[in-house]
Amino acid sequence: MMSSTLPASMADAERRFRAATPRSAQMAEEARRYFPGGVGRAGMPVMLYPVFIERGEGQYLFDIDGNRMLDLSNGHSALPVGHAHPAMVEAVNRQTARGLGFALMQEHEIKLAAMLQARVPSMELLRFTASGTEATMFAIRLARAFTGRTLFARMEGSYHGLHDMMMSGMGASIGPSWRNTDNDPVANGVLPEIRDGVVYLPFNDLAACEAAIAEHAADLAALIVEPFMGSGGGLPGDRAFLHGLRAACDRHGVLLVFDEMISIGLAPGGAQEYYGVRADLTASGKLVGGGMPMGVFGGRADIMSLMEGKDGRQPQFMHTGTWNGHPISMVAGIAQLELLGADQYAYLGEIGDTMRAKVRALAARKGVALQVSGIQHFSGFHYTDRPVRNRRDVLRADQDLAAKVAFSLLSQGFYLVGGRSNLSTAITHDDIDAFVAALAIAFDESGASGGSELP
Ligand code: PMP
Repeated sequence: MMSSTLPASMADAERRFRAATPRSAQMAEEARRYFPGGVGRAGMPVMLYPVFIERGEGQYLFDIDGNRMLDLSNGHSALPVGHAHPAMVEAVNRQTARGLGFALMQEHEIKLAAMLQARVPSMELLRFTASGTEATMFAIRLARAFTGRTLFARMEGSYHGLHDMMMSGMGASIGPSWRNTDNDPVANGVLPEIRDGVVYLPFNDLAACEAAIAEHAADLAALIVEPFMGSGGGLPGDRAFLHGLRAACDRHGVLLVFDEMISIGLAPGGAQEYYGVRADLTASGKLVGGGMPMGVFGGRADIMSLMEGKDGRQPQFMHTGTWNGHPISMVAGIAQLELLGADQYAYLGEIGDTMRAKVRALAARKGVALQVSGIQHFSGFHYTDRPVRNRRDVLRADQDLAAKVAFSLLSQGFYLVGGRSNLSTAITHDDIDAFVAALAIAFDESGASGGSELP
């Protein structure tokens, strides 16, 4: 069958979307009275206006207009078992009836800590936080306190939360230098000396990283890396790259910090199990909190022990917080981890592989220049004919086209955030087929499709 040489207009998608979401449109107007830009946070795919969610169940989200959407994001990867899993809901309800928070130790903390340590043995000691942002903040600050060195290194374009240390180099845009505030508006408001404490490294380029580590070794406290770059584009680190970073850090006494906020979902033991690399410190969260707000950082006992007051003296490193180890987050996290056994990871891998293969085949058939990155249930979709291995490659791909495709998908009831997908065990092979059929329409509507369709 031949597709039309001129793509159908996005007007079809817009008409479909507006007709289906009148209450969201109305709510979005109201939201403008309260929130800058009418949204509660950045980073949501606002296409025309946000869709307001009423509830989630399994693989679906339901909006306030009653539309059902297949959720390909799953709470930014926090819910790999899907929404409102009965075991998690029951665990949370049980705890809710017992009180909502105490800021005191509870058995749940021990249980979740034990489960985590069993899965990620490098977390010899750990502490819970209220968010992933705090987890990376404490990890880097702790690395500085432990080593007495001032700099830390990070990958260009990775996201580690929004504390001052992490605001520069996140890379919403591409410029000659990722330090340059002119090219880095998200870092506005951060003191220059904080930005100057950061060394920027290119992901998946071991030689460049080794050179930079060697150059700054005397002052370099830590290197933080997402082994699987999530928000940066759904990019797997090369095995040799991650092992090479470990070796380079060892050579120079630099602490290797893994941000396993997302990559904890790669295997029971996260990226450290998946890649066979042991970090000195790990920052994690998301799925570990079972969809509730939480983070965790942990690692080598000699480093983490800085938080222990010895001989009646103050600890050498301060960590506290009202919400840390929050009981609802703990029980939700325990319940979700209990649901995630070897079979579930195997299924997530299988469904992810299936999706990538089918999307690649569709793109080839329709003449779409598309790179599908990813491993396990995490994928990234990049509209370019060039390989995509780091954030600069991602930003060279066609972002407008990606937004159009995502909008068409949303108008058809498929929620794919930021050109990336985090699947859940609730998603079936039929769901993947339905997604691929919708994607075919989205390719046509967005103009992504090439001239003639291959048989
Ligand atoms: N690190 C990574 C890799 C993340 O993806 C995120 C959240 N998107 C964070 C840190 C920050 O976590 P939180 O949103 O819980 O503060």
